[in-house]
Amino acid sequence: MPPAGSCESTSDAADLSWDAPVIRLDGVGPSRARILANLGIYSLGDLLLHRPLRYEARSQLTLLAAAVHRETASVRVHVTGPGRAVRPKRISFAQVPVADDTQTGNLVWFNQPFRAKLYPPGTEMIATGKVRIHKGQVSLAVVEEEVLAEGEIIHSGRLVPMYPLTQGLSAVMLRKLIHQALQHCAQIPPGVVPPAVQKARELRPLAEAVRQVHFPETEAVAQQARRRLAYEELFTLQAALAQRRQGAKKPADRSVVPSDGISEQLQQALPFELTGAQQRTIKQVLADLAAPEPAYRLIHGDVGSGKTVIAAAAVWAAVAQGRQAAVMAPTEILAEQDWTVLGEILGGLGPRPTLLIGSLPEPTKAQIRRQLASGQLKFVVGTHALFQQSVEFADLAVAVIDEQHRFGVAQRARLADKGDHTNILVMSATPIPRTLALTAYGDFDISVLDELPPGRKPVHTELIVGRDRRRAYEFIIGHVERGHQAYIVCPVIQESAQQYLTAAEKLFARLKNHVFPTLRLGLVHGQMSADRREAAMAAFRQGKLDVLVATSVIEVGVDVPNAVVMMVENAERFGLSQLHQLRGRVGRGPEQASCLLLTNSQTPEVIDRLKVLERTTDGFEIAREDLHRRGPGELTGTRQHGLPDVRMADLLAETAVLAEAREDAFALIAADPQLQQPEHQPLRRRLARLAQQTSAWTL
Ligand code: ADP
Ligand code: MG
Repeated sequence: MPPAGSCESTSDAADLSWDAPVIRLDGVGPSRARILANLGIYSLGDLLLHRPLRYEARSQLTLLAAAVHRETASVRVHVTGPGRAVRPKRISFAQVPVADDTQTGNLVWFNQPFRAKLYPPGTEMIATGKVRIHKGQVSLAVVEEEVLAEGEIIHSGRLVPMYPLTQGLSAVMLRKLIHQALQHCAQIPPGVVPPAVQKARELRPLAEAVRQVHFPETEAVAQQARRRLAYEELFTLQAALAQRRQGAKKPADRSVVPSDGISEQLQQALPFELTGAQQRTIKQVLADLAAPEPAYRLIHGDVGSGKTVIAAAAVWAAVAQGRQAAVMAPTEILAEQDWTVLGEILGGLGPRPTLLIGSLPEPTKAQIRRQLASGQLKFVVGTHALFQQSVEFADLAVAVIDEQHRFGVAQRARLADKGDHTNILVMSATPIPRTLALTAYGDFDISVLDELPPGRKPVHTELIVGRDRRRAYEFIIGHVERGHQAYIVCPVIQESAQQYLTAAEKLFARLKNHVFPTLRLGLVHGQMSADRREAAMAAFRQGKLDVLVATSVIEVGVDVPNAVVMMVENAERFGLSQLHQLRGRVGRGPEQASCLLLTNSQTPEVIDRLKVLERTTDGFEIAREDLHRRGPGELTGTRQHGLPDVRMADLLAETAVLAEAREDAFALIAADPQLQQPEHQPLRRRLARLAQQTSAWTL
């Protein structure tokens, strides 16, 4: 084993262990600890393994006299007088006079007038930002500043690590915490990669990489250390997936579902021709079902690619054999819709599905449970009510999980546990790059529905900023006059159930009374009773409502072909992939559909981000943009998968590392499935801890 390294040779403050909780660090209280936990960071060790995405060369300090208009520069200055908070019309900023040995100038912080008071005259600081020279006056629009006390310069004057953006935690604070952790951590353990693998892949000791990755001397050293840490993380992740897959792939004769003739019967029941991609995928699924090992497959296709018929094929294969099938959706609205649509598709072939959702009356649910346990009911569609402990199946042969990305791994596992021979099929509309798929769903076989049903026109998308919203409203009225329908979606900042109601209901009241007094409006949100919600959805589906106002509960899966306008309020509150999902609600019929994204934001980055949707309707490209802008966790909800957030990774750049780590981890688990060999103990402990954290996340 390579020697474990001490964190910082000079440190006499090395008083905390690698496993010490982050709350032991100065500046971390319960609320910061919670923010860090959201990143999968619980201990000092987790924090030190948090990989920078990239580095900024701030080793060069610029003298004010040498600053160049429009360039980014780091300057070392002292404050020469009191700061001013300035609030002309719409913007506000803080302006603080400074000087270095060569010249005077101003530091400017936009939208942060409070900063004017933070830096009293005499304060020494290094500030980084964009230079503006106007009439000979130098000012710097500050992006980051570091007040210089004694001690080390962390944020400038060197290669500075840039971590993935974290909600609620500034880059500066994160860097400070990591710096502090490095100084206080007594020992860095050797990591989980067994010596044989380290040798074969020529991996440097983990301790060395941890010491180098955050504040490296050179870019080359940094990149090497980053890859070593990426390897550590991806190896762990892939080992977890390999183990899960080993567990899932126990051969069981009862998992066999013969499926001759199923696709022909299905095709006859459908009003349309299956696309090539659907035919291919159905074939793969049916082959899985007929094989002796339980199936474990991800069906992955953009919104509207027609995943429901794939579910129908799998369900029908099971039910035709007199076995049980369950389809699970993440929301009651979706469950109701899957129930309706699958009932229509399969109605001519076999039994109609039964709906099991939490909001049904208790006696009804109890009866359904009895009939599932006795085997009398063959086909059920529901929400997470399906995997409650009280639900038992006599013979669950096929479980389909729709819109997988909304479920946690623990929930998925619980449904699988309902039968030791259950074939699992998960369907996801989040288009993710293959690298990421292998990371988040590495224990699955994957089918991709890469073809949309014929005749779809790309949805016309327009970003509408500020006052122009009148035009958006008139656009909707125009469409309704031509007999079409529209969605209006608003985000909810769900701080309490009470506020949740108010946000959606306030908007609804405003639209109904002031904007669209002559139209028929309905409202759906997640906190409504199932009855009222289903009534509103049904009315919309039947064309009895013109406009459906909704929270993002309709983000996934809802299918109403006559709805041709999707308007999103406060679009900046949504991720790009989420907006793409919302947009996927329209453009399902022959009519040209539109998506209007409304925002009041003036921030260039925000506008820029939203404009991606104007440019492209390719879900994969959008996912890539999301990945670059927000980091992978946001995109896939990897935490929801019960996997450690693939934090820090610019996964697209780590393809080679991922392939190696995956190969090594799968080989290792194949050779020692229970991880019993002594050199595999660190990995075994790490996976156990991960499993613990996972259940803490998902329960
Ligand atoms: P997804 O769940 O993948 O978003 P759906 O299964 O809801 O997509 O299908 C979207 C719409 O496309 C539905 O209205 C469905 O009836 C229709 N559809 C599915 N497959 C085809 C096909 N092969 N040809 C024409 N229409 C199809
Ligand atoms: Mg669907």
